[in-house]
Amino acid sequence: MTVHVIGAGVAGLAAALALVRAGRRVTLHEATHAAGGRARALPDGTDNGTHALLGANRAALRFLDAIGAREGWIEPEPEGLPVLDLADHSARRVALSPLAWGDAARRPAGLTLGGLGALLRLAIPGADRSVASAFARHPVLLRALVEPLTVAALNTPADEASARMLGAVLRRLGAPGAARLYVAARGLGPDLVAPALATLACHGMSFRHGARLRGIGRAEGRATALDFGEHAVALGAGDAVVLALPPWEAVRLLPELPAPRDHAPILNLHFARGVDGPVRFIGLLGGLAQWVLVRPEGVSVTVSAADAPVALTDAEAAARIWPEVRDAAIRFALPGEWPATPPSARAVRERRATPRHATGPRPRPPRRPLANLALAGDWTFPALPATIEAAVRSGEAAAAALLHAPAGAPA
Ligand SMILES: Cc1cc2nc3c(=O)[nH]c(=O)nc-3n(C[C@H](O)[C@H](O)[C@H](O)COP(=O)(O)OP(=O)(O)OC[C@H]3O[C@@H](n4cnc5c(N)ncnc54)[C@H](O)[C@@H]3O)c2cc1C
Repeated sequence: MTVHVIGAGVAGLAAALALVRAGRRVTLHEATHAAGGRARALPDGTDNGTHALLGANRAALRFLDAIGAREGWIEPEPEGLPVLDLADHSARRVALSPLAWGDAARRPAGLTLGGLGALLRLAIPGADRSVASAFARHPVLLRALVEPLTVAALNTPADEASARMLGAVLRRLGAPGAARLYVAARGLGPDLVAPALATLACHGMSFRHGARLRGIGRAEGRATALDFGEHAVALGAGDAVVLALPPWEAVRLLPELPAPRDHAPILNLHFARGVDGPVRFIGLLGGLAQWVLVRPEGVSVTVSAADAPVALTDAEAAARIWPEVRDAAIRFALPGEWPATPPSARAVRERRATPRHATGPRPRPPRRPLANLALAGDWTFPALPATIEAAVRSGEAAAAALLHAPAGAPA
């Protein structure tokens, strides 16, 4: 009796971990030659893109604990995020936690009583509208806090993004410690993917990479066979499947699934410019760069909701973004020289980084569309934006759906 987990992204890794811990035999099949999916290290060790976690991401942090990787995720800015406004060169530290806003020095710009009321209203579930329209009367707060948070958490422009979904994020930030921000100190390879695979290997899981699932045989509401091209797997009576794929692949295999169709890109630009000293994480307003992660390995810049910027060439992106990074480095007194000429840079364009989190209802696929097949993937957990947290929770929910389903029960 084997559970075949298809897709070695975070959702597949989390599903596999829950299953092996419950004593199941697991084979993990991955189309590419490396695990991690949209949260992966490239062959040279660079992250595909900077990934941040919040204290509110309890399932993700628990997963890191379970794979022995929690210590690799550090809090770069415990005093609040340094933010530079490129329009007027004002700099401040902004606390993400509303609990810290009693301290005027750590409050976001534009936080009036009215603005606070608009934030509180957002946290109460109600009719949906765009984030921009919900904050139309608070343009300073929208620009200084709400829009950057929307773009970072929902990867969707504020005039399109769902206020209800942002509200779901904000509701989770109120608890103590929930707004602490963590990044992988060394990168996604050593701090996420490698320890997950090592832990799964210790539990006896086998990992088949270069194994793209091409089709699923079905009969009487069950999956009966997995077609990997040159290799096929016939499923026995007790065998089961977790499909932990991005929506476009899940729908190719099971066309009847409701799934998001529209995605938003993220552009990451990695400058070969190591900076000694502690890891730093800086926000920028009013430019192209949104977040700058500064590590000894290099400087990585994130541009989310990057519909237009993904079309820039590497050289164009570097020429526009480096002066912004340099401004921030000088303003926040980062060590070393910051010459005007950009160092060499490489862009990573994730064109379907996440589904767009626009207003309106999200597709709600069933957790177990076939009696012996459960779905995982960030997009299958619609209560949260498509993030590592949603991916982990979806993987755990898929494992639970198979573990707790009576053998042979219909979906
Ligand atoms: C640049 C970028 C920055 C991000 N920043 C953050 C962040 O700061 N914080 C955060 O929480 N989230 C962030 N995210 C989102 C996060 O990466 C995703 O939500 C999460 O990784 C999705 O995991 P998943 O397992 O659901 O899907 P995926 O990672 O897409 O995993 C699916 C896996 O299935 C494999 N596969 C596909 N088709 C097949 C097939 N037919 N057969 C076998 N295998 C197949 C893929 O190769 C992949 O490995 C970011 C995403 C990107 C791209």
